[in-house]
Order: sequence, then C-alpha cells, then structure tokens
Amino acid sequence: MALLSDLVAAIHSGSVQVIDLTAPLSAQTPILTLPEPFGQTARFALSEISRYDERGPAWYWNNFTTGEHTGTHFDAPIHWVSGKDAADVSQVPARRLVAPAAVLDFSAQAAGDPDFLLEVDHITAWEEEHGPLPAGGWLLYRTGWDARSHDQERFANGGHTPGISPECAKWLAEQAPILGVGVETVGTDAGAAHSFDPPFPCHAFLLGNDKYGLTQLQNLAALPPTGAVVIAAPLPIVRGSGSPARVLALVES
Ligand code: MN
Repeated sequence: MALLSDLVAAIHSGSVQVIDLTAPLSAQTPILTLPEPFGQTARFALSEISRYDERGPAWYWNNFTTGEHTGTHFDAPIHWVSGKDAADVSQVPARRLVAPAAVLDFSAQAAGDPDFLLEVDHITAWEEEHGPLPAGGWLLYRTGWDARSHDQERFANGGHTPGISPECAKWLAEQAPILGVGVETVGTDAGAAHSFDPPFPCHAFLLGNDKYGLTQLQNLAALPPTGAVVIAAPLPIVRGSGSPARVLALVES
C-alpha cells in the first residue's frame, strides 16, 4: 500500500519526524501523593532477577512494580466513578490509539499563574486562528510543566499546577469532537481540582463520556499547533484503570 511505504520512506528521510512525548520511567519519576486517608500509588521500581551472573549467566532482566498512573500514562474511562461501567485500558480500541492532535500552548500564562485554568473562550479563540479541534483527536495542553518533571517538589508545586476549569472540562467532554486531553502535569486536572465543583472535573466529565487522558507528556514544544499524529500505546492490562504508555508524535518537517 503506497500510503504506508510513503510514510516509512518519509520517516527514513527525516521529512516526517518521530517526537517522543514520553518521560523516562524510573524510581525518580514524580508521582501523585493524595492526602490521608486515601490509598497511594507506587513509584516505579526495578528488581533485578539476574545480570550475567549465577542467577542467569548470559542474561540480564528485571521485574518491575509501578502504579498504573505513574509517569507518562493513559487514563481509561473506568478510572473514574463516572466511567465505572465503561472501558478498561485493555478494552480501548487500538484504532483510537492513533489520532491527530491539536497543541494549545498556554505555557506563558502558566508561568505567570501556576493555578492557570483553561477556559472555553481560550479554545474558541485558538480555533479562530487554527481551525476546529480535530475530530477523534487529542487536545494537547502545553503549560511548560514538562521542564519540572525531573523534580518531584517543583512538579507538584505545593498543589499549585495548571489545569482546566469545570465548565471547559464539561464542554470538552460533551461538545468538543476530541478523543481526550493530554497534559504535561501529573494528572489531567489542576492541582486545586479537589476543591472544584465537581471535584476533578476533567476526570469526571471526560472519562464519564468515554474519552481519555494522557499525562506527564514531554516535548510538546516540538509539535506544531495542528497536523501532528499521536500514537499513544498503553499496556493492555486486563481490568486496568490505566497504564504507563509510550507516546509518540509524527510531525512533518
Ligand atoms: Mn491518571
């Protein structure tokens, strides 16, 4: 098929670039910490099985433990109570994991106000310049937070991290043609979203409308406002609420 051979040739020649939107996954990967009495997610950890030694003379391998929502990861609808009867991460259709992306850059606003919230008006103003949000695609929300992702304290920022207003989250879930929202922060909701009405509106509205979340993305600055194609690949964990994911973007140079 010419389309695919053309794509492979374009990647080989560099006229289509592959941008990695994934944060490295290690014990240093920042995680969300919830207040008491809520349960906590685990950090990523490796446990060595053998390394060319008496436990396995020719091979190196590890077991690993991790939370489903650690590092760059995918939120499936079942993650939230509003989507409790919807898809787990293994049930997300593969064809929905390859999708166009709009990239909305609010890093300047978030630099001035770490509690900055995306509103519907911001999106409609963006659409006047760039065209409509992509049907069946991602809204990737750039805030500059990826620059903090090597530092748990600066990444969490005492609970002051940018997000999306409840009205805008409802609009994105119910009115916009998108597949989901991708962010650079630890979760799709703002740091203060526990106090919103409803609490955690991105999770409540998007996951309750069979849409998805992608978090802790990097390198959104390398993407154009429109035209990128995102490949988001969570592990198909049966009954999983989400999974660490390798997230790649194809960009025409
Ligand atoms: Mn999550």
